[in-house]
Amino acid sequence: MSAFSQDILELLRLDYGVSPEQASTVQIYDAVSRAAMAQARRRWQTPARGKRACYFSAEFLMGRMIGANLYNMGLLKECASFLAAHGLDMNMFEEIGDAALGNGGLGRLAACFLDSAATCGVPLDGYGIRYRYGLFAQTFEDGFQKEAPDDWQRFTDPWAVRREEDAVLIRFADQTVRAVPYDSPVIGCGENALVNTLRLWQAEAQRPFDFDLFNRQKYSAAVEERDRAEAISAVLYPNDDTREGKRLRLKQQYFFSAASLADLVKRYKAAHGPDLSGFAEAYAIQLNDTHPTISIPELLRLLMEEGMDFDAAFAVVCRTFAYTNHTIMAEALEKWDVNLFKSVVPQLYPYVELLENALEMELALRRVPREKKQNYRIICRGQIHMARMAIFATHSTNGVARIHTEIIKHSALPEWYALWPERFNNKTNGITQRRWLALCNPELSGLITQRIGDGWITDLDQLKRLVPYADDPATQDAFLAVKEEKKRQLAQVIRSKEGFRLDPTFLYDIQIKRLHEYKRQFMNALSILDLYYGIKEGRITDLQPTAFLFGAKAAPGYYRAKGIIKLINEIARLVDGDEAVRGLLQVVFVQNYNVSYAEKLIPAAEVSEQISTAGTEASGTSNMKFMLNGAVTLGTYDGANIEIVEAAGEENNYIFGARVEDIEKLRQSYDPKQIYQAEPRVRRVMDALVDGTLSDGSTGVFRELYDSILEGASWHRPDQYYLLLDLIPYCETRLRLNRDVRDRRAFAKKCLLNIANAGQFSSDRTIRQYAREIWSV
Ligand SMILES: *Cc1c(COP(=O)(O)O)cnc(C)c1O
Repeated sequence: MSAFSQDILELLRLDYGVSPEQASTVQIYDAVSRAAMAQARRRWQTPARGKRACYFSAEFLMGRMIGANLYNMGLLKECASFLAAHGLDMNMFEEIGDAALGNGGLGRLAACFLDSAATCGVPLDGYGIRYRYGLFAQTFEDGFQKEAPDDWQRFTDPWAVRREEDAVLIRFADQTVRAVPYDSPVIGCGENALVNTLRLWQAEAQRPFDFDLFNRQKYSAAVEERDRAEAISAVLYPNDDTREGKRLRLKQQYFFSAASLADLVKRYKAAHGPDLSGFAEAYAIQLNDTHPTISIPELLRLLMEEGMDFDAAFAVVCRTFAYTNHTIMAEALEKWDVNLFKSVVPQLYPYVELLENALEMELALRRVPREKKQNYRIICRGQIHMARMAIFATHSTNGVARIHTEIIKHSALPEWYALWPERFNNKTNGITQRRWLALCNPELSGLITQRIGDGWITDLDQLKRLVPYADDPATQDAFLAVKEEKKRQLAQVIRSKEGFRLDPTFLYDIQIKRLHEYKRQFMNALSILDLYYGIKEGRITDLQPTAFLFGAKAAPGYYRAKGIIKLINEIARLVDGDEAVRGLLQVVFVQNYNVSYAEKLIPAAEVSEQISTAGTEASGTSNMKFMLNGAVTLGTYDGANIEIVEAAGEENNYIFGARVEDIEKLRQSYDPKQIYQAEPRVRRVMDALVDGTLSDGSTGVFRELYDSILEGASWHRPDQYYLLLDLIPYCETRLRLNRDVRDRRAFAKKCLLNIANAGQFSSDRTIRQYAREIWSV
């Protein structure tokens, strides 16, 4: 028996006193994970030499770690045979909840980057927060979203090690807390692999919980101090949530930024002595969005308190940090109220003022006219603009897809680009093919490897060698057989999780992503209604039966997004209850969409819905996951969709709708009511919201959705995201797609060409670009 299998048996016996046959799923999970950890540990030590990069991120959406780690370590097969020998199988781990310490794309990107860096030999460590509760667990009750706390630690946390010795104290105006790090090994795959570290900080009371049971006052005070400290890392903020709690959010940001920097400074001094002037040659720090930007004044403070003057310290700060912008939506650009900031971290405010003064000098030097200065000020009208600080005090600002970077340079932040053009650069996002193909789709991986070998696992560009096979009928048929198998598997998952019988002979058309108006799940819903009425009215005949699948969480405070979930669930009910369409349409909204669900949904997809309003989706990454698994994109000219169709061919995808330039031209004159009046199909589907066809349980939310399109609201104009503008072209493009899929082999060819051209969307490529062009590691 192998050492690995022996370790598992030993851990089960010693820690739980059970045999594999007697053990619970969580016990097996814990023992297998820790047996693997024991092996990873041998390669897991930080090398003393050489520059390291650090990824500061408020979110790491890791998903389930066991599969990916075993895969990368080459232990997956061994684990499977160990389990089989005891009458078990890997599917048992489906019970283990995800580590969902992130909202969506931004957090998942951080996770993909860690995997790629470790695989490509790039020394990159992740720094973030060990939230006690991850993103809420979602269920539907009568079609409405319900939220429950996500207690992910109840499955134990065998992939992390508490490092008591590296705890640091973090000071706020009204409390001081201890930041205790939990480290996870980030295990790369293949020959160049490293074992890097993900370090997540947990907030605890400064002193041990020394309660005095017999002194009620002392006891309550101790309890209160503990709870107040632990609150800082208790919950992940759902994005798009603009309600109160800002103060805690700021504390979270300072908490992990200050802890991470204290850690790096301590390590630096241990290796290089007390003079910090070489700090930027030892560490490169990437700020994942503005959430960790408070690190900038914090590092300035640490350097100046060590005796460095401002100019020297500022130079170190600029050379150390780089900033990734993830959105240009005004409401998502972070600003902090000056008074709030001062009341949370007063020790930092003088350093923000120093930055503001330095900016003022720079603007004067560059002769920026007075009236233009407003666009630059870090401290402006009582607020601190974090994106401005991030651009000014770093050496690199990057967007996450080509169009997004162009929009940053030329329309979102042109005044900054004018002064510092050399700082702006693009790093198109990517995804790790280990999780998003090898692990989640072994059937397709097997087919690919059978044709071109397995080099693609660490070099995704090798997929290009599939191009000649796209025309090969045997490969086309094999691909279709794999797709059918993945659809059958998904139908089974959905049957058991949702109690819904998905027909595996239908075309699977999938939209999965956070629920947001700009992503336009609402437009998808309207287009399904158009199909529904088209069938009923006899306008649409011989439709290839289609199943529409959705997965999305809405931020708990985002009323309209929750209304859209209810709407889609009501459309599902309408379709399901109608004999005339039941054989042609299915609609299902899966509950609790997360990384593990995505791993089931994506391999089964034939159509990838990427329909954001042009100019709003910075990049998207689910579009890349679908492409890699052989789905065609039905999408707008937005984010990375543009690069996807450029690589895979417009003829192999389905692009529709207004482009950024069209929308810019139209902006002032756009009138959705005109479209509503002129186009009976649009009128028909919009009216279904308010004429009693669909019921919102008397909440009024469907009326609100209707009004948001046709009337607008005080804070936005009618149809802010141009749903009605794109609706009919969308429906027509989808019908064209639906006609095309009948030629199964021709469709398989399109899918194969998407796979063959997905190489550039590996996060291995992205991480190498960051390493070379930004971090110099
Ligand atoms: C990839 C991924 C996302 C990002 O999806 P987009 O469609 O690019 O917004 C969000 N959530 C999960 C769970 C993911 O795996």
